[in-house]
Amino acid sequence: MNELRREPLLGRWVVVLKESLAPDSYMPLVEPQPHIENCIFCKDDNSIKEKYVVKDESGRWMVKVVEAEESVFTLSGDLGRRGVGMYDMMNSIGVLETVIESPEHNIPPEDISEEHMASVINTFHIRTLELEKDPRIRYVMIHKNSGAPSGDTFGHPHSMITATPVIPKRIKEELDGAKNYYDYKERCIFCDIIREEERTAERVILTTEHFIVFAPFATRFPFEFWVMPRRHNCSFKDSSEEERADLARVMKRMLRSLRRLLKDPPYNYVFHTAPSRIPRMAQWHTLGEDFHWHIEVMPRIRRLSGFELGSGMYTLTTSPEDAAKYLKKEVEDGD
Ligand SMILES: [Zn+2]
Ligand SMILES: [Zn+2]
Ligand SMILES: [Zn+2]
Repeated sequence: MNELRREPLLGRWVVVLKESLAPDSYMPLVEPQPHIENCIFCKDDNSIKEKYVVKDESGRWMVKVVEAEESVFTLSGDLGRRGVGMYDMMNSIGVLETVIESPEHNIPPEDISEEHMASVINTFHIRTLELEKDPRIRYVMIHKNSGAPSGDTFGHPHSMITATPVIPKRIKEELDGAKNYYDYKERCIFCDIIREEERTAERVILTTEHFIVFAPFATRFPFEFWVMPRRHNCSFKDSSEEERADLARVMKRMLRSLRRLLKDPPYNYVFHTAPSRIPRMAQWHTLGEDFHWHIEVMPRIRRLSGFELGSGMYTLTTSPEDAAKYLKKEVEDGD
C-alpha cells in the first residue's frame, strides 16, 4: 500500500508510492501533451466502472464519474496511523475520482449549456456528500486541471475529486488563518473581505444574486480570481440548489471570459470548503462560523521562478486591480 508521510517541520503530508519509479521512468522530462487520439474518455469503454452518471433526455450521458486510473489511494483497510522513529505516517486511504465533464472531447461544458455546467457542479455536490459518509475521510477536494502546464494529461474536459484521510496543508493554513481572525474579531474573515471588496469595488469582476467574483488583494498568480457565495456558509456541501444553479452561470461566464481574454490559457481551479464535520477530538467549535467556502481560479500563464518556489513569495506581473478591470470588461462584452 502507498503511504502518507508527514513532514515534521511544516506538517505537510506527501504520498509515497509503494513501487518506486526507476530513474529512466522520468526521462525525457517534458510536459505531458494532451492526447486526442485514443482518448480513454472518448471511448465508451465498458471496463471503466462508472460511479455516477448524468444522462440527458435522450439517454446520452452528459457527465460521468469514474475511479481515476493509477490512483495513489485505496479505500480498503484502516488508517494504520503509526510512528516510525520520530516520523508520523499512515496508510494511503482515500479516493481519487475523475469527473468526465462532457462526452465531447473539444467542447468544455462552459461552451455547451448552462444546464450542462449545472450538471457538473451538481455532480461535485453529490459525490462530496457520498464520499464524506466514510468516517475515515477527512477532506474532499474538487479541482480542475485544464491545459498541459496545469497538470492536464488528457485534453478531455474533466475534473478530479480527491478524498483524503488528512486535511491538506494548504487547507489547514486557511482554516487556521480564518480561526485566528475569528478568535480576534468574532467575524468571518471572508464575509469581511466581501464587504471590503464591495465597498471599494476596485477588484470586483462580477456580482450575481448569490456570488461575488473578485481578484483578491494579494494573490499568487496574475489574473487569479475567487468565486465566493455571498451567504455565509462554511461548506459547499451545504450549498442550496439555487446557489449551485447560479454558480453554474457564474463559472460559465468567468471561464469563457478567461479563455477569450488570455487566449485559451491553462488554468486550475480548486474548491476550498470545510473538512468533514464528523465530530472528532480536538475539533474546534467555531468552524461553522469562521470558515466560508469558495473557489480559487488560477490561470497558469507564467512559470514560477526558483525564488517564488523556494520562498513562497510570489510576483504579480499584473496587479489584481488591473486584472479585475480586464476580466470585468471581458465578462460585460461577452454578455
Ligand atoms: Zn476525449
Ligand atoms: Zn463568511
Ligand atoms: Zn481558499
